Amino acid sequence: MIMQVPFVDFSWQHEPIQSEIDQAIAQVVQRGDFILGQTVAQFEQAFAQASGVEYGVGVGCGTDAIALGLQACGIGPGDEVIVPVNTFIATVIGVLRTGAKPVFVDCDPATALIDLEQAPRVVTAQTKALIAVHLYGQMVSPQQLREFTTAHGLLLFEDAAQAHLAQREGHRAGSLGVAAGYSFYPSKNLGGFGDGGIVLTNDQTLAQKVRCYRNYGASQKYVHTELGTNSRLDSLQAAILEVKLPHLQEWNLARNQAAGQYDEALKPLADYGIFPFRNDGGPGHIYHLYVIRVTSESPLTRDNLQKALGERGIQTGIHYPIPCHLQPAYQYLGYHTGDFPHAETLAQEILSLPMFPGLSEAQVQQVVETIKSVIQGD
Ligand SMILES: *Cc1c(COP(=O)(O)O)cnc(C)c1O
Repeated sequence: MIMQVPFVDFSWQHEPIQSEIDQAIAQVVQRGDFILGQTVAQFEQAFAQASGVEYGVGVGCGTDAIALGLQACGIGPGDEVIVPVNTFIATVIGVLRTGAKPVFVDCDPATALIDLEQAPRVVTAQTKALIAVHLYGQMVSPQQLREFTTAHGLLLFEDAAQAHLAQREGHRAGSLGVAAGYSFYPSKNLGGFGDGGIVLTNDQTLAQKVRCYRNYGASQKYVHTELGTNSRLDSLQAAILEVKLPHLQEWNLARNQAAGQYDEALKPLADYGIFPFRNDGGPGHIYHLYVIRVTSESPLTRDNLQKALGERGIQTGIHYPIPCHLQPAYQYLGYHTGDFPHAETLAQEILSLPMFPGLSEAQVQQVVETIKSVIQGD
């Protein structure tokens, strides 16, 4: 019999707090404040405080958090925004929604994070901001981000959708720049039972603007002072997230520990061209995903390894198989194959292994042993 290892398993997280969640949902239903109201305000404050930031504004999803956050920063048509090319497409959608142009930069193949040494080349008179994407749960170096954005007079916006409560160099995700966008998509480190997102900022005026945008652009009921939209964090989601938030640090730590076990167990596979990414963030890396590289030195291609693992009950993912500049809908931006060699190579090599709080050491061993036996052709 094969022991299956799922890619994500919520039971360890949800079972101990299930009755608390049920109660929180029942209270929202009882009060009937389904839109905004007390629950959303409470969660906004709690999440901002946990991240060491003054204001939180709950929105409908992470994509909207980026779009509305950037818009509140004054980003719009004619502006250029620097974005890592190997991010999830929502970062790009957020920029395009403001009317600004996304300008891509390649990644460091050792970490998969944006290569800031390549960023100065793309700065023009139109460049207004850089979006730091803390990919897989590892923050981009706060010091290097500050040096780059200060030197070029750019706004720093964080896409922290994979980095809830991540830390690096003594700084928390979401506290580095003018504002940050988060997602509460169910599988994120802090996830609801549906879509959700938040904008964090220390700027009161900016927070006020996002509050206005998310609620039809109304500064008071039926007075529309901004060209807004409808994108609010759902009260039921806020109630669930409020119950989960106090456990997040423990869950993140559990992910980091499982990652340490993977790192150790995978060491012998370096001889077969299989490597984890480098962790420059120490315990502050919250491993939204645990990703390995199946390089050209490996006897099996990434796709064949993934297929063989699947047949042996090990679920894996690819984050992401096509870099943003090669996505069919974005060809009009004018990029081509070969423009970003690191991201293009990684797209062929990366494989996300099972990762969730509650992943046991035995499961980690099972995953790695299965990779070994497949690679060795057993
Ligand atoms: C999940 C994610 C988003 C988008 O969040 P949604 O809530 O799905 O809109 C944005 N950026 C990154 C890096 C993400 O992982």
